[in-house]
Amino acid sequence: MRIALTPLAALALASCATTSQMPTLDALARDYLAVQLAIGEKDPGYVDAYYGPQALAEQAKAQDGDMSLPLLQARVIALDATLSSYPVDPGTLEASRVRYLRAMLSSAKVRLRMLRGETIPFADEAEGLFGVRPEMIDLATLDPVLARIEELVPGEPSDGPLHERINAYRDRFIIPDEHLDAVIDRAVAECRARTVPHIALPEGESFDLSLVTDKPWGGFNYYQGNYHSVIEINTDIPVRIDRALDVGCHEAYPGHHVYSTLIERDRVNALGEIEFTLLPLYSPRAIVSEGSAEYGVELAFPGEETMIFERDVLAPMAGIDASEIGDYYALREATSDLGPAYYTIAAAYLDGEASREDTIGNLIRYQLRSRVSAEQSLEFLDTYRSYVINYDLGSEIVGDFVERGGANEAERWERFIFILSNPILPEDLR
Ligand SMILES: [Zn+2]
Repeated sequence: MRIALTPLAALALASCATTSQMPTLDALARDYLAVQLAIGEKDPGYVDAYYGPQALAEQAKAQDGDMSLPLLQARVIALDATLSSYPVDPGTLEASRVRYLRAMLSSAKVRLRMLRGETIPFADEAEGLFGVRPEMIDLATLDPVLARIEELVPGEPSDGPLHERINAYRDRFIIPDEHLDAVIDRAVAECRARTVPHIALPEGESFDLSLVTDKPWGGFNYYQGNYHSVIEINTDIPVRIDRALDVGCHEAYPGHHVYSTLIERDRVNALGEIEFTLLPLYSPRAIVSEGSAEYGVELAFPGEETMIFERDVLAPMAGIDASEIGDYYALREATSDLGPAYYTIAAAYLDGEASREDTIGNLIRYQLRSRVSAEQSLEFLDTYRSYVINYDLGSEIVGDFVERGGANEAERWERFIFILSNPILPEDLR
């Protein structure tokens, strides 16, 4: 039997035979933004920042009523399938875009499973969302670290438990409220001054910074696009002197503000990669974003330079006696060895193996937190769950890459810029 083709059908077949019907990568990137924004309508905080086409955000809002979680899952799976068969040559910009988009969608799939109520064990959740599996340690292995800290803290065990004595000592370094604004501003200015000689920033980059309270996080950078950040620092817990440079470097220079600024300039504006106008909170890029922000302070203030700057500049501004700042730093160094306990404590809590009260007890004993600080930490875990791995683990991964082979200062900054300006995933850094 002979099948007669209508002229239109014949035309369609002909075009099919000669050109691919695959949408352009730009069109797929818009589909990606649309689905991420739609998930963001269901999951407040899912979209960390967005400064792409406003019409896509409005569309996601308008269609939210018709959109269910299973439907969103189907959209993510379909888009990922399309991308998986997208023809690209290895090593090209197109290949890197496809790889990036698929990595983001892989995390989106895991987040959607969580939003639908699936319980995923802590380490699996972290690996699924952030592309890195955290290692758990036995808390008892930290007892020798606690013994070493005991020797550094003034006072005797008979004066009270270790966490009380260490926090009483650290509290001597709290910045009084009336000096807080000025000290933080000075710290951020110094972080910027130590960044700009190494990183050429676009003209007009800027930030607004304010102090806030009653938040589940310590600091937040709401990137607005146009090289502008809105930074908030939470002062629920009294701010000690060393937090000023930590937050200045983390939230601003060379941390989140610089990261987002370079992405906007080098990916969105220079290459038209529209997908980068959205920062998903749960993605392997969080390891890069939080890791570079955390490592930023070491990069901008290598060795003892944080301590020197605090002693000579910030402490006098804050009216703090800095004569013992060396001891304070020795203690800070020793307590940083307790860092790995956090994932074990977080996993036990989030996996339902430790009660709230037991978790507070563990944070007090193995992180030497005050009760207020332990409770704030639980609030963060309740809100962001396995996101906690991005800080210490991210900093370790970024730091190892930047410092590899005993890199000198210029090489360290160069590698750092490379990490910030490219669609790097954690596996690229290991
Ligand atoms: Zn951060």
